[in-house]
Amino acid sequence: MSILVTGSIALDSVKTPLASGEDLLGGSASYAALAASFFTPVKLVGIVGDDFPKANIDLFRSRGIDLEGLQIVPGKTFRWSGEYHWDLNTRDTLSVDLNVFADFQPKLPLSYTDTPFVLLANIAPSLQIHVLDQMERPRFVIADTMDLWIHTAKAELLQLLTRVDMLILNDSEARELTGETSLIKAGNRIRSMGPQYVVVKKGEHGSLLFGPHHFFSCGAYPLEDIHDPTGAGDTFAGGLTGWLAAHVGGDVTFADLRKAVVYGSVLASYNVESFSMDRLQRLSMEDIEARYTLFKAMSEFEVLG
Ligand code: AMP
Repeated sequence: MSILVTGSIALDSVKTPLASGEDLLGGSASYAALAASFFTPVKLVGIVGDDFPKANIDLFRSRGIDLEGLQIVPGKTFRWSGEYHWDLNTRDTLSVDLNVFADFQPKLPLSYTDTPFVLLANIAPSLQIHVLDQMERPRFVIADTMDLWIHTAKAELLQLLTRVDMLILNDSEARELTGETSLIKAGNRIRSMGPQYVVVKKGEHGSLLFGPHHFFSCGAYPLEDIHDPTGAGDTFAGGLTGWLAAHVGGDVTFADLRKAVVYGSVLASYNVESFSMDRLQRLSMEDIEARYTLFKAMSEFEVLG
């Protein structure tokens, strides 16, 4: 089954202690769409300016991503720049230029409106709602968000939460949204705001999945070398949603979500191993399955024999 992905499509300038680059393909929707495309057909909704390099369009096309919902308009593409500290865990956002995003009115092609799985990757909650408004009863809706919207668009974010099946956010955002210091309390509190399921990401320490009756703690795949964490969260969300769409025919269960979280973590682990999207572009399904198998073996805490 296919998924619809919306979010930012960006030209990023990124500096890490090891490398730097300008005008690299980035944005929440770009990372998420690429990650999901390993599992299932993806329909992309977003906007770029007429400065957006054709090579990026070609990359999306090479992954079979449907671009009917991509608006290319006169003007400049959304730009973001950030610099990582030496631990590669923390970063400073240096600039955000909305450019063509400032007047974005997502308009879904008719062929997108009945897509069963929807990933509202990180953008303003009002835009996420606008996309959702145009969908015909999707089966499972996942939203991602960031601290900026908790500070500047909380009312819209709370409204969005009543309409999604799952929210993905990181640990500091979960604490900010709820005022709880305990992540367990925070995850459960967010569930009471609407979504049946919540994933709290903890960066290099894995993630927590909350459901109505169950809880799952997923470690992070232990990597020796991290080169660039940009887009890790978006890749995680894309991998998770893509895997679900490809493998779940009936109702989404907690067991499905556990497995989807692990596949999301596998995709994210590959993404951070190289600069920008380099590793995602070279990734194969064999790589993904090999790491999933290793990760599973590492996570067994009762080993027989
Ligand atoms: P992450 O590392 O998961 O936080 O994602 C980084 C990506 O998010 C970059 O590729 C940026 O282009 C994109 N991004 C940064 N700020 C925003 C924003 N305010 N809205 C949408 N996307 C953003």
